[in-house]
Amino acid sequence: MQIYNTLTRKQEEFTPGNQEHIKIYSCGLTVYSHPHIGNWVGYIYWDVLQRYYEEVGIEVERVQNITDVGHLVSDDDSGEDKMEKGAKAEGKTAWEVADKYIEIANREGYEVLRLRKPKLIRATDLIKEQIEFVEELEKKGFTYRIDGEGIYFDTSKLSDYGKLARLDIKGLEEGARVKVDGKKNPTDFALWKFSPKDQKRDMEWESPWGTGFPGWHLECSVIARTALGDQIHAHTGGIDHIPVHHTNEIAQTESVTGKQFSKFWLHNNHIKVDGTKMSKSLGNVYTLVDIEERGYDPQAFKVLVLSKHYQTEGNFTWEILDASQNRLKNWYAVADLAWQLPNVEQKNQSTFINDVMEAVGDDLDTPKALNIIDEKFNALVNANLSPSLRELEFIDNLLGIKLAGEDISERLKSKLLERKNARDSKDWEASDRIRDELKEEGIGLNDSTTGQTWYRI
Ligand SMILES: [Zn+2]
Repeated sequence: MQIYNTLTRKQEEFTPGNQEHIKIYSCGLTVYSHPHIGNWVGYIYWDVLQRYYEEVGIEVERVQNITDVGHLVSDDDSGEDKMEKGAKAEGKTAWEVADKYIEIANREGYEVLRLRKPKLIRATDLIKEQIEFVEELEKKGFTYRIDGEGIYFDTSKLSDYGKLARLDIKGLEEGARVKVDGKKNPTDFALWKFSPKDQKRDMEWESPWGTGFPGWHLECSVIARTALGDQIHAHTGGIDHIPVHHTNEIAQTESVTGKQFSKFWLHNNHIKVDGTKMSKSLGNVYTLVDIEERGYDPQAFKVLVLSKHYQTEGNFTWEILDASQNRLKNWYAVADLAWQLPNVEQKNQSTFINDVMEAVGDDLDTPKALNIIDEKFNALVNANLSPSLRELEFIDNLLGIKLAGEDISERLKSKLLERKNARDSKDWEASDRIRDELKEEGIGLNDSTTGQTWYRI
């Protein structure tokens, strides 16, 4: 069964009028440490996905979980809980650590990167619903208990387990995954983990099976179902989620509902740093704070990310960020021509918007969309024209990249006029002096045969 589809096919499926609105579920952050730049990559694409449908005129209902419990260090339901481990490292409780990083993630995602805020739901806010979900699975005979470990999902009860990743179950049985003692099949996974007998966890709850906490995959099935219903249109996450996390979400949800969970799955590839995997030991785990502190425009990071296709592996270096920032600065300069030069006529404007929409509608081809912007802006500059405010607003609406600044003050405008007059009357001394004064105020000048234009420095 072919699960991967292009957005073009999604477009056919989701023609306006066929659907009241689109339901999208995105796997969210585990809030145990400061998110690094790699964590934001997927969300930048899913933000464009949401904005694309909104631009088409379809209402989007998008839900994202906040993993604040149950995500163990290993994908095999073993090892420490990331939240409890993070808490120990900071001398805080798991609850305090969650609150701290939720606040940081909200600032960085929705203020610094200006992503549209999905409906965010914390895993710990739906514990009762998660317990009820396991009870439903239990009633249907999909679960078994391992004493001292927890309640597990029996993947052999599903004939199509692993369809998303096309897992070679036989191969896994040879021992590809770490085994928890007592697991019937290597691919079985925890629905409810028991708290260790000798230790009180910061986060634990009573359940019909004993004190413990939900398995990591459970929260996504339950949050999606509670907030969006049995079926959704699109589910997003990183490619690393395919073999275990998303495979197990499908197994749980479809076993309870008997219906296909998500029509489409979109998985983003990751970015490396300096061509290698990010790791603490290499000192290359950067955050948006590092980017801001080095004086970069956070939007330049979005340009860097959107310059690659979501399914392609990317690379981050400071040189590549420099290039992205220069590209963005050129766009800002062209955007400011909107205050100074005539706009293009309506016909060209809609061609541009259609071309960009077509690119993004074709399996989220953001690199192509960015190239169309470059071409368009270059053509405008060559023709001594400017983009219209409608076009700039469109770029902001679709890509979340704000190019149009406010018009400059009347005082600066009269200074620009003074400088133009000085130049026209060949008073080079005054012309140079005013140019320097404007520079002090953050305004740069371009002189051409057709006159002077300004840009923000
Ligand atoms: Zn998830």
